[in-house]
Amino acid sequence: MPILQVAIPRPLYNYFNYLPPLGVDINQLSPGMRLQVPFGKHSYIGMLLNISDNSDFPINKLKPALKIIDSTPILSVDELGLLKWAANYYHYPIGKVITTALPTALNQGLPASIKPVIGWQLTKTAIELDSIPKNASQQRAILELLQQHPQGLAQTVITNNLPKSTPSLKTLHKKGWIELIVPINNQLLSKSSHLQLNQAQDEVVNQTCANLHQFYPALLDGVTGSGKTEVYLQIIQEVLNQGKQAIVLVPEINLTPQIVNRFEQRFAIPIATWHSKLTKTERLHTWLLAKDGIAPIVIGTRSAIWIPLARPGIFIVDEEHDSSYKQQDTFRYSARDIAVVRAKRASVPVLLGSATPSLDSLHNAIYERYRHFSLPERAGTAIHPAYHIVDMRNQPKKESLSRPLTRAIKQRLEAKQQVLLFINRRGYASTLTCYKCGWVAFCQHCDARLTYHETSKNLQCHHCGVMQPLYNKCPGCNHTKLYLLGQGTERIEEYLQIQFPTARILRIDSDSTSRKHAMEDILTRIHTGEVDILIGTQMLAKGHHFPKVTLVGVINVDSGLYGSDFRSSERMAQLLIQVAGRAGRAEEPGEVIIQTYHPEHPLLAKLVRQGYPSFAQAALQERHKAAFPPYTYLALLRAEATTHPPLEFLEKAKQLAQQCETVQLWGPVMSPMEKRADWYRAQLLLQALQRKHLHDFIAQWLPTLPASNNKKVRWSLDVDPQDLF
Ligand code: ADP
Ligand code: ZN
Ligand code: ZN
Repeated sequence: MPILQVAIPRPLYNYFNYLPPLGVDINQLSPGMRLQVPFGKHSYIGMLLNISDNSDFPINKLKPALKIIDSTPILSVDELGLLKWAANYYHYPIGKVITTALPTALNQGLPASIKPVIGWQLTKTAIELDSIPKNASQQRAILELLQQHPQGLAQTVITNNLPKSTPSLKTLHKKGWIELIVPINNQLLSKSSHLQLNQAQDEVVNQTCANLHQFYPALLDGVTGSGKTEVYLQIIQEVLNQGKQAIVLVPEINLTPQIVNRFEQRFAIPIATWHSKLTKTERLHTWLLAKDGIAPIVIGTRSAIWIPLARPGIFIVDEEHDSSYKQQDTFRYSARDIAVVRAKRASVPVLLGSATPSLDSLHNAIYERYRHFSLPERAGTAIHPAYHIVDMRNQPKKESLSRPLTRAIKQRLEAKQQVLLFINRRGYASTLTCYKCGWVAFCQHCDARLTYHETSKNLQCHHCGVMQPLYNKCPGCNHTKLYLLGQGTERIEEYLQIQFPTARILRIDSDSTSRKHAMEDILTRIHTGEVDILIGTQMLAKGHHFPKVTLVGVINVDSGLYGSDFRSSERMAQLLIQVAGRAGRAEEPGEVIIQTYHPEHPLLAKLVRQGYPSFAQAALQERHKAAFPPYTYLALLRAEATTHPPLEFLEKAKQLAQQCETVQLWGPVMSPMEKRADWYRAQLLLQALQRKHLHDFIAQWLPTLPASNNKKVRWSLDVDPQDLF
């Protein structure tokens, strides 16, 4: 009797056994198909993992599956293999790994089919452009475009080039001048031509293209503007020439529409995208187009790494150091790491690009696990920015900005250049306090201070999202004078408006960009020179090019210097270099002014005087000394409970761990933020010198823990944690 092994989205580590649906021939079934299966009182959409001859459960107790959803597998055996690998590696239930990897529509059991991509081609008749009415400019433009592309173009490409051309397409179709086609995607129509590569770029492109048929992991280490994207484009051109597909991961698509534009300008094919702003159907489209080999290029954020490809050719991870590649809840995978594993399984190259590579990747490059390419120079003629550290201990305490920074801003404004100020905190003030009794406004649900927001005139918790009105007197002593301390983007904005009344100031943080298209509008205003001073959070550090900015001010770098996490200084350095990289392109040299109360901090000094590579070397030495990753391997067991920190639970978990010499257990300790959204938090850290030891240990240990329970103690395991919070 054939037994179906089915993964279902339940918090359980294994698959479940079912009998084939009644009346279904077993030959109709293969792994990778979805099935609807009964489970308790419910039914679930499950994934058929395997068909086995025997059951590890009494056969007479097995139920038949309810029905088959797919007539052909939606995941190949290889792709299922990757998901099984990930479930093992992250010690996370396979059924839930699969739901993360599939688009929502497929998880809901909707059919894995889409409307075909349509395109247009000129009909054979020679086009007499002259016979088109003079005022029908759209029709003319379409015909001209199609004349340049005799093989036809996808409708999306036409409408991207000529917005609002859909009605004209219909008219032309009626007139018989164009006909519907299914566009041939491997027909590459290069629009913008290649740039002549410099020597360093050429080396990356040549080496990678010479290794397209094997696993070839490489770190592409190049400052902002050094031409990494051009390298991606030229390698992908070769991948496509060989009839294969590429996935390009980016940290944030909505904030960086430029990257998609650049791909669209280079390749006259529809670029499939994948990100959180897409509708359910749009996501399904991208997924299926990629799986069926119709979409040659997919650009997407983190979860795009799970999109199946008919003919994988290369995986590219841009800004590989970015922490958004690690999912921070439920299935805590790293898309960057999955990209490397996936490339290995598919025997294709994986290219990790960054101006500020993660210490993990640099370490892999140093140990020659990755090829290390550097693009040392900016591709154009621009020169590196000059850094200045301002010692805030010598500056007037009352002012938000130091004198040197204020002077520099004034100069730029007079020279009609743009200024970018970076501050990593949104809102107006980070603390509301009473000087008389020392009361501070805390969130009732978290161990965190409330931030005052001037725009909405309320207090907000940045951890649980709660909002409440501003106090008009101190709840401690009834004193009516309360003080706002600390500065966020809004307060700096206010300060600057007073200092520079005629300057046009623009604030960029998640509050000012939440509206749809807000970011695009903002970018346009910056590029057309309608803005003099930009103030923003780390949003500004991601991928944007601001050619008119010649001065970058970092209001306060200190939280990164003495952060409580072992990655704090790495993050600080990456952010600083990324922000600095926005300044001074082409003709104008850039200047970066950094305000700090700790100008003597050795890593900061190293970063500023000797650059990121020297910083990274020093930081790696510190990690080595402290026995932190990448020199050791970590996993973090986080536990939460509703009445008090679940230290007891973690103690018990620790006891359940058999004496094990190869894995150290540290803790349990309270989490750095003890309470968050009404949950009390504690954690237990696992550390090993070898990855295998850590995983063997967890595989034995985890199943012995009591199940995570939302009413008592809930817990989660984070393999390769990004931070220890
Ligand atoms: P990155 O992705 O590293 O920030 P880009 O690929 O965006 O760098 O390149 C920065 C700028 O330099 C772009 O305007 C790009 O067109 C230009 N550029 C890149 N490579 C070359 C080259 N070989 N010759 C001339 N300009 C180049
Ligand atoms: Zn008080
Ligand atoms: Zn809160």
